[in-house]
Amino acid sequence: MNTRDLSDHTPYRAGRGIEEVARDLGLDPESLVKLSSNENPFGPSPAAVEAISGHAERVHTYPKAAHTDLEAAIADEWGVDDRQVWLGAGGDGVLDYLGRAMLDPGDSVLVPDPGFAYYPMSARYHGATVDQYRLERSDDFAQTASGVLEAYDGHRIVYVTSPHNPTGSEMPREEIATLAAETDSETLLVVDEAYGEFTDSPSARALVDERDDIAVLRTFSKAYGLAGLRLGYALVPEQWADAYERVNTPFAVSLIACHAGLAALDDDEHLERTVETVRWAREYIHDNLAAPTWESGGNFVLADVGDGETVAAAAQEQGVIIRDCSSFGLPECVRITCGTRETMPEAIEAINGVLD
Ligand SMILES: *Cc1c(COP(=O)(O)O)cnc(C)c1O
Repeated sequence: MNTRDLSDHTPYRAGRGIEEVARDLGLDPESLVKLSSNENPFGPSPAAVEAISGHAERVHTYPKAAHTDLEAAIADEWGVDDRQVWLGAGGDGVLDYLGRAMLDPGDSVLVPDPGFAYYPMSARYHGATVDQYRLERSDDFAQTASGVLEAYDGHRIVYVTSPHNPTGSEMPREEIATLAAETDSETLLVVDEAYGEFTDSPSARALVDERDDIAVLRTFSKAYGLAGLRLGYALVPEQWADAYERVNTPFAVSLIACHAGLAALDDDEHLERTVETVRWAREYIHDNLAAPTWESGGNFVLADVGDGETVAAAAQEQGVIIRDCSSFGLPECVRITCGTRETMPEAIEAINGVLD
């Protein structure tokens, strides 16, 4: 038999893992520095690790109470009602829930180009067609309401990433408010704040009180260091918050993920150390990389190295894994994730050696 026609669907290409690269190069995984997937170089919150082992013996039970508790804790953090928190298996899982709740077959969505590959994938699974709006390199990938509106034509969902992956640019909250106001009342604006902890700019969360057509996406994968656990959430307007019960996969977030998330939310020390180090590392990269870089609000920096594929491959030979941005449509660029004060100097030196 055959699957349905999936020719419009493209597989997601993740950055390569340390073990994979080490095996290919015949190197010790310990000797490699992975700066390709925007992961937390400090690892998970230690409190989360403790919660994970502490609840291991409870995994024969469904995560009913844990799910409720995590929703309540996140709601408390943001000052919204518990129902306005939609948990999912990573931010990606939550994008699917928003698609399930909003998209009818034949609807269209608008995504950024360059941009995050899962928006179009998720929208297509839900029968939607995909159009793009451009972030222009000549404008340093600036994000404005008018830039998006140029391409807007009544789309059902418009995705905005701020801080943006892979460029690091941001859409100021006033611009997001303008964009929401200028689009139809039946257009949902998804503001993806996967990197929200790393910027000083305010969250779009306040707009969720004012409007019923904005959802804010957050994740535990980046600042909290829980990418492997798959835990994310959306803050959605009260008006349609109840739709979650109709679209979510039962127990989509595991018992372990719920407890780890609860512990991580309480671990301010890990979060502060992570954010502080990212700020330092961004500056370090801007100041020391022998290639032009762009301002970034995220835990990564985009750099113009001329030929991203060649430079990433050569850096990898030197034990530094960075992300070639060809798949984002930026073949001249690499994206370098912020590492620690211990790893960055050597890593940047190795990349500079390659650029030489
Ligand atoms: C990492 C990322 C996400 C969410 O990733 P999850 O691991 O699924 O939570 C969402 N959007 C962007 C732009 C990202 O880079």
